[in-house]
Amino acid sequence: MSDNSSIEWTDATWNPVRGCTEITSGCANCYARTFSERFRGVPGHPYEQRFDLRLVPEKIREPLSWKRPRRIFVNSMSDLFHKDVPDDFILQVHDTMLMADQHTFQILTKRAERMRKLLDSQLSRGALASHIWWGTSVENRRQGLPRMEELKQSKASIKFLSVEPLLEDLGEVDWRVWY
Ligand code: SF4
Repeated sequence: MSDNSSIEWTDATWNPVRGCTEITSGCANCYARTFSERFRGVPGHPYEQRFDLRLVPEKIREPLSWKRPRRIFVNSMSDLFHKDVPDDFILQVHDTMLMADQHTFQILTKRAERMRKLLDSQLSRGALASHIWWGTSVENRRQGLPRMEELKQSKASIKFLSVEPLLEDLGEVDWRVWY
């Protein structure tokens, strides 16, 4: 976990998963990939394996030891709902978030369809928790708007969007019907 994040909308980052693969044109300038590639082959560095997706089980319970409440960006260096992250592992991340309710957790994904399916089933307790925010990225009409729809249809009680980098005009969007 990293305290004092430079990301303006969060206080800290927590990465129980590292690495990812591109899924849309919105990934073209992925800062996580750029950062990871800098440490390729550096022995002992957390990103020695570059941006290859890797589970980090030793990080799963880390927020429980962080007593002062803070906003935590979950997987700033990955995507929790990547197809190679097993459901069981996501469930363990979810259980930690439920237990560490002194914090506010922010989960942002470009895999909104999988997130919605899990929020409707195995993550249903987290969906209702007011200290867990569930969000998706929107960069264009073709891929971003369907993700918004998935989030809108989900059972998450706290929803948010990251509309960056915005690659084109989204056109008419109904921002009202979110609950
Ligand atoms: S989904 Fe996110 S973390 Fe993964 S490659 Fe795209 S921008 Fe990077």
